[in-house]
Amino acid sequence: MNSLQIHNPATGALITTLPADDATSVTTKAAQARAAQPAWAAVPLAERKACITRFRAGMVAELDGLAATMTAETGKPIKMSRNELNGLLARIDFFLAEVDAQLATQTVFAEGGMTEQIQHTPLGVVANISAWNYPWFVGGNVYVPALLTGNAVLYKPSEFAAMSGLAMARLLHAAGVPKDVFVPLIGTGEVGAALMAQKIDGMFFTGSYATGAKIAQVLAPRMVKLQLELGGKDPTYVAEDADPKAAAESLADGAMYNTGQSCCSVERIYVHEKIHDAFVAAFIGSVKTFKVGSPAAEDTYIGAITRAPQLDVLEAQVADAQAKGATLLTGGTRLPGPGNWFAPTVFKDVNHSMELMREESFGPIIGIQKVSGDLEAVSLMNDTRYGLTAGMFTQDEARAKALLAQVNSGSVYWNCCDRVSPRLPWSGHGDSGVGLTLSTYGIATFTRPKAWHLRQA
Ligand code: NAD
Repeated sequence: MNSLQIHNPATGALITTLPADDATSVTTKAAQARAAQPAWAAVPLAERKACITRFRAGMVAELDGLAATMTAETGKPIKMSRNELNGLLARIDFFLAEVDAQLATQTVFAEGGMTEQIQHTPLGVVANISAWNYPWFVGGNVYVPALLTGNAVLYKPSEFAAMSGLAMARLLHAAGVPKDVFVPLIGTGEVGAALMAQKIDGMFFTGSYATGAKIAQVLAPRMVKLQLELGGKDPTYVAEDADPKAAAESLADGAMYNTGQSCCSVERIYVHEKIHDAFVAAFIGSVKTFKVGSPAAEDTYIGAITRAPQLDVLEAQVADAQAKGATLLTGGTRLPGPGNWFAPTVFKDVNHSMELMREESFGPIIGIQKVSGDLEAVSLMNDTRYGLTAGMFTQDEARAKALLAQVNSGSVYWNCCDRVSPRLPWSGHGDSGVGLTLSTYGIATFTRPKAWHLRQA
């Protein structure tokens, strides 16, 4: 057995050392899941729903402790950890309410003794390799509907959120999901790679483009259903008729929430030249109110950077932007340790020659670029290889809809940002990924349609 050390990114302290998987244990567990899945699929849906309902109750009963664990291992401010757990409860409610309709067999034709039906069967054994930045959200988006629809799940939490992953497994097992049906696999990318070597019927991955591309290369020849939820460089445009203060407050939060470590963080801001200066002043005013501090403190807004190497990425983006003429308005440096800290950082006078406006930052850092109008804004918004979310602030709904229709991204926002709804599909265009989670499509994605042609003798 391997082991995995878990450190607190806010202090650098070792929290614990967990037993971890290796290639042999992954193979054994995958075989056990394969053997267990048919019986789970045969459990009546009402009973599978009862398991997930009990899991939800277990989350509620332990919410404060689960939040503290997530905060300790990821550096996420404690209030945001509780928000995430409460947010997952709402997603669970959505899945529970919608799953019956998604699994019901549909009769699509019945005439002259001929009946045609669509049956929705589980994929089988699915793998879920997950990210650390919202471990409960991105895990739950996959394993809750996957389990409800009768799949077995091999779940590899990020090595930066493994304690939370084990808590999920403990609560699911206590709620009645068999241990071989929801199987946590603990370890680094090596364990993820060992998981890909198994016979699986679906791979549901959340993480970086770099890892997603490796996974796609390995699985492509094997005809395994593949979903990749990857990074972004999400833009927002603030038009001249928007209230600069209201837009700035919303976008400062969208850029810096979770210390900027959200897949749908606002990562680029384009502001009409007529209100640019007022917007920038209000934006800086908002950012100055963000308290940097211990993630365990109730009033902390900016917590730790979860992965130490990301500090180098942030520093390199700052240096590159400054070298190319950007104006640094606040921040721009690491903060003293122990632990991984970066000051909230705002640039103006940026352009697309800068890494800051091209590559995912995944930290509390943002560039604000002045634009002359809608045409320039939409062209810059689309000048990216990513396409997760995009937004526009304006009083004019028709203008927002016309502009956002031209933007190549999975989600679009009018007068809001950094928002995910259980009722809407969550998907990326371009290098932000393939496939989707959430909405009723995010339940159906864990099933295969089987076409029945039935002729009476
Ligand atoms: P990552 O790619 O470093 O790791 C993700 C997972 O992949 C981890 O569990 C890791 O152990 C595993 N892994 C690493 N190498 C592997 C390999 N060779 N084979 C198999 N598995 C391997 O990403 P991360 O740092 O955990 O997450 C941050 C990224 O996730 C950001 O780019 C962020 O935008 C993205 N993200 C996207 C969404 C979305 O919904 N689109 C949501 C959350 C995070």
